[in-house]
Amino acid sequence: MKKWTKNPWVLGIGTTVIGGVLLSLALDWINGVDWLSTISTVMRFILNAAIAFLNFKIKVWWLLIVIAVIVIALFIVAKISDVYSKDVTPTFLHYTKDNVLGFSWEWVYSKTYDGKYTISNLHPVCTKCGMRLKQGGSYGLGMKCLRCNTTKDWKDSFITDAQMLINDNIRKKYFDTQPNK
Ligand SMILES: [Zn+2]
Repeated sequence: MKKWTKNPWVLGIGTTVIGGVLLSLALDWINGVDWLSTISTVMRFILNAAIAFLNFKIKVWWLLIVIAVIVIALFIVAKISDVYSKDVTPTFLHYTKDNVLGFSWEWVYSKTYDGKYTISNLHPVCTKCGMRLKQGGSYGLGMKCLRCNTTKDWKDSFITDAQMLINDNIRKKYFDTQPNK
């Protein structure tokens, strides 16, 4: 037997078609054949067709299972890639230093409970040596580098202002012009 004849579709359709032809031939010769023989032929045909159909059904079930497995696999892959894409580090996380308000600033990002990033540990650093500046001078109104011994006028509002400016830079550079990202 050739391979293609073992194919369930070929077997199923073949059985049905050949069975149908045989039945019509049997009906043509119905007068020449005694009733019991015809009935038994019809019964046998119905039985064969039923078996072929059941066989078919099993194969279709296999096909459905394969399709279901593929769909489930695709679903899992989609879910996993979704999780990974959520874990991808946003590009703006590399932006951790800038010059605003006449000071050099450095900061890090920390993640809030809802998964958003926020600027934290924002502080001015020395423009010459990069060391973190220390608040000091008379009435704490200066920022001093302990290494270079330079002092610069300072206002406490600078921290808030700098953070606002940096957030605005992030928005403009990394999020187009969409607000509050
Ligand atoms: Zn310095």
